[in-house]
Amino acid sequence: RKWWSSLRNGLSRVSRAPAGYRAIHRRYDVIVVGGGHAGTEAAAAAARVGAETLLVTQKIDTIGALSCNPSLGGVGKGQLVREVDALDGLCGRAGDRAGIHFSVLNRSKGPAVWGPRAQLDRQRYRDFIQAELLATPRLEVMEGSVEELLVEEERPGRHRVTGIRLAGHAPPLEASSVILTTGTFLSGFLFLGQTSSPGGRIGDPPSSSGLSRTLKETLGLQVGRLRTGTPPRILKDSVDLTLATLHPPDQHPTPFSFLNTHTHCKPEEQLPCYLVRTTPGVDRVVMESLDDNSHIQEDTKGPRYCPSIESRVLRFPGRSHQVWLEPEGMTSNLLYPQGLSMTMPPDMQLRLLRQIPALHRVEISTPGYGVQYDYVCPTQLCPSLQVKTTQGLFLAGQINGTTGYEEAAAQGLWAGVNAARSALAAPLLALSRTESYIGVLIDDLVTRGVTEPYRMFTSRAEFRTLLRPDNADLRLTLKGFEEVGCVSAQRYNEAVRVKEGLEEAFSTLGSLSRSPRDWRKTLETSSISQNKGGTLTATELLQYNDITYDDLAAALPESLAPFLEFSQRLKIEAVYRPHCELQKKEIQRIEREEGMYLSPDLDYLSLPVSLSNEVREILDRVRPTTLGAATRLPGMTPAAIVHLLNFVTQKN
Ligand code: FAD
Repeated sequence: RKWWSSLRNGLSRVSRAPAGYRAIHRRYDVIVVGGGHAGTEAAAAAARVGAETLLVTQKIDTIGALSCNPSLGGVGKGQLVREVDALDGLCGRAGDRAGIHFSVLNRSKGPAVWGPRAQLDRQRYRDFIQAELLATPRLEVMEGSVEELLVEEERPGRHRVTGIRLAGHAPPLEASSVILTTGTFLSGFLFLGQTSSPGGRIGDPPSSSGLSRTLKETLGLQVGRLRTGTPPRILKDSVDLTLATLHPPDQHPTPFSFLNTHTHCKPEEQLPCYLVRTTPGVDRVVMESLDDNSHIQEDTKGPRYCPSIESRVLRFPGRSHQVWLEPEGMTSNLLYPQGLSMTMPPDMQLRLLRQIPALHRVEISTPGYGVQYDYVCPTQLCPSLQVKTTQGLFLAGQINGTTGYEEAAAQGLWAGVNAARSALAAPLLALSRTESYIGVLIDDLVTRGVTEPYRMFTSRAEFRTLLRPDNADLRLTLKGFEEVGCVSAQRYNEAVRVKEGLEEAFSTLGSLSRSPRDWRKTLETSSISQNKGGTLTATELLQYNDITYDDLAAALPESLAPFLEFSQRLKIEAVYRPHCELQKKEIQRIEREEGMYLSPDLDYLSLPVSLSNEVREILDRVRPTTLGAATRLPGMTPAAIVHLLNFVTQKN
């Protein structure tokens, strides 16, 4: 009882929201349901594109809440944050404002796969997001629970969204587009030990069953079930940190946002994390608790790459696992033990934690728990994130089977862009997997679907040497302003300035050509082989591991000093240039395929081409929008692609 009431009271104190959040109008261009990471980006993006937008969420207080880990970014995820920022989204700037420990992961690998990451102060993150939303023109925010989606049938099997109905007796609100971002709340159930109760997150009720019903019964959408869990939060002053390994932040914090040159938290103010390891005693407690742990006994799929301690012990018995102790805020006395997500009864949780030497006297503030929720199988969406069979209905975030704030934010932004464009009668847009991680994420979801919670990795992006965190602004900000309409003029002007600066710098570097012997003398370096003949440009020199732009600029200050602000970007770009040139050819092939549209009305089952029944069924079920998307469907054979290609070319 005591634990459940602490669960209901929420993870940490939240500030009371200012009063007066009411829908002012009865009709909007776009209504966004849910104020999590997808919903906040969606609402802000829709308003930036020019749509009159309403964000409706259960509690104003929890807008921008970090339900689980107090961190942002990481390998693959950091790339998403940089791209959301390049499209003028919120999470990158929020991360820079709330970060209390910055580090770039994967430094031992090439810069293309570095993962910018930060530990966050939960309250600061939420405050920043709420303040940004309140200051966004054309955006209203309202507290309320959406009970039902209003739709009209246009013809059998095809619907159009018309608005939403709220709980209580409020009149319905009309909209041209609705974006659902209900996270873990759709038919959500919380699990702790052998008890379970309806809930979307600790302290929050689930989304109403009316919403699930409209999706399943009225719209006929295929809905599945997934689960996830979170660790107990522990009191820092009950931990013996002398028995843990200190993990300091980077001395020079790298901001997420292209608009920031430094982070809000000064380098010397950052807080450390700590590393500890599980012991055989942890395995013992897990095994003893299994009968009292209903979440772990369920067949529902959980996040493979962020497994609970129960799953880790069952999969790898006898192995010692890493546990990171992460600060929850600048002044918070709570630590988040990353790696110890668990759902056993609270007394067993305490016993388990105390098997780790540094935690032998630990006290729990809030126990870990699990959540199971409905998700909508994302192959039913177009690359714009609109539901294929329902005009004006868009889905983003965990409702599409993903896990993580960054994945949610990325989808939210793109759904917001397209929902606004749909409402304003502009054509819907897709991001390609050749130009962005956001494109990879959405393409994976809508063509392959999910069988377990989907998270981003750099290995999912075929063109990762081109899709680097350092160049997301050049890839997306210009397009975001010129074609999409979601980027401010201020950010656009800055991206243009950077682009022109880099081009000028490369032109200068290319014109500085000398013999290897001359360069050896000028730079006083032995890394250029004596036996190398011909000439080398300064761009080629930058491809040497130990020659930096700063070295070159020190030797040739008149030509190169003006571009010192781009020093790291120039080095990275020069290193990857030869490989990127090769990748661009492959991209041209993919772009040709992506340009070949497959009509949504194609009757695959009786198409007059040689396709096996199995392939016909896959195509009929998923209805890929381009030939490129068809090639990536699981089960598609090279022969089937050739037949389809011939069919499309003949038709065109
Ligand atoms: P959420 O952040 O969940 O936001 C949903 C929002 O919708 C909420 O504001 C809610 O109030 C609102 N809402 C829902 N229904 C309605 C309605 N009918 N009317 C109005 N508003 C509504 N991620 C990881 O990467 N790793 C993990 O290990 C992990 N563990 C997690 C453990 C738990 C217990 C939980 C709850 C989440 C966990 N997450 C984890 C997931 C992470 O929190 C989500 O990926 C992320 O928050 C998804 O963002 P979202 O915007 O889709 O949904």
